[in-house]
Amino acid sequence: MSKKMKRRDFMITSAAAGVTIAATRVKGSPVAPTMLIPAAVQPVVVSSANGNRFKNRGNMTAVHKAFSMITKGEDVLDSVIAGVNIVELDPLDDSVGYGGLPNAEGVVQLDSSCMHGPKKRAGAVGALEGVSRPSLVAQSVLENTDHHLIVGKGAQDYARSMGFKIEDDLNTENSRRQWLEWKRRIDPQHYLDPAKRAEAGHRAALEMLAEGLLREENMHGTINCDGINSKGEICGVTTTSGLAWKIPGRLGDSPILGAGLYVDGNVGAAGSTGRGEANLYNLCSFVIVEEMRRGAHPKDAGMEVLKRIKANTIEKRLLKADGNPNFGINFYILNAKGEHAGVSMYATKYAMCNENGPQTLDTEPLLPGKPGD
Ligand code: ASP
Repeated sequence: MSKKMKRRDFMITSAAAGVTIAATRVKGSPVAPTMLIPAAVQPVVVSSANGNRFKNRGNMTAVHKAFSMITKGEDVLDSVIAGVNIVELDPLDDSVGYGGLPNAEGVVQLDSSCMHGPKKRAGAVGALEGVSRPSLVAQSVLENTDHHLIVGKGAQDYARSMGFKIEDDLNTENSRRQWLEWKRRIDPQHYLDPAKRAEAGHRAALEMLAEGLLREENMHGTINCDGINSKGEICGVTTTSGLAWKIPGRLGDSPILGAGLYVDGNVGAAGSTGRGEANLYNLCSFVIVEEMRRGAHPKDAGMEVLKRIKANTIEKRLLKADGNPNFGINFYILNAKGEHAGVSMYATKYAMCNENGPQTLDTEPLLPGKPGD
């Protein structure tokens, strides 16, 4: 048997047994250690729960679409973006893309980021108006520019110049009705001083949640979707309309690399939904990937950042009577072996698709109870 054959046999045996090949590290080298690289991986896609809920009148959810493209050999980033496009265009999801709940002035402003593991490239847009699928504009930034993040009017001008259709208004009847109801509650005399207005805005949103007009996951709401193919290529995307009735121009975590999304092609991917400010403060997706680089399982890496968020949440307005955070925050994580996890501050769901088809699974919560109890 030739040397070449022996090497090939080793690769096949390794793949079958799920054995990994360690990357070498020179002792004392300042270079970050590289995680074990799998010889072969079972493809998998993970996302927030809306990735296995909305179909935009088609026959596939986001995770299903992404998985079916990945297993046909399509680029992993193209696949996860085609998945989230379904949710961006579905008017029934009022937390993402077309029909996303607007900002305080009634204007839908969208954020998105994406990262391509093998190409080591990234692109993002923030506070983008008039383009229903911001993830495609983020991908265009990744592919066509030297930049990683373009925001506001610049992002819209960029999208227009790249041939994206700019819509006058991305509100749907539902998102406009919700905004009008909120506005009516906070602005009965048309003007309030800014402090009172912010307080009234928060109170009105809580009342609308309590009355069942709004769902917590849509006050905050986003889709993150990450995938890996059989070659171990990892990509991810996050796209959102952000926090409902935010101050115009507010960027959440979704367009910020290391917060709403982080991918290292040799290590894994992590993305988030939930209170963006908590994630921005702690740059959790980056930290999760670094934890995995040091060998942590996706679930343990996620738990680590949830503990950090809890420890860094000390303002009374953000705490429940029991001293725990009064908000939800969730992470969707996969590593280069195809192991994955959904973790959250309080119990919720996440979506996953593998060879057994699309599934909705329970996340691993850090704390018992709910954000609002
Ligand atoms: N993380 C998003 C933001 O803060 C919203 C969400 O997912 O709930 O903009």
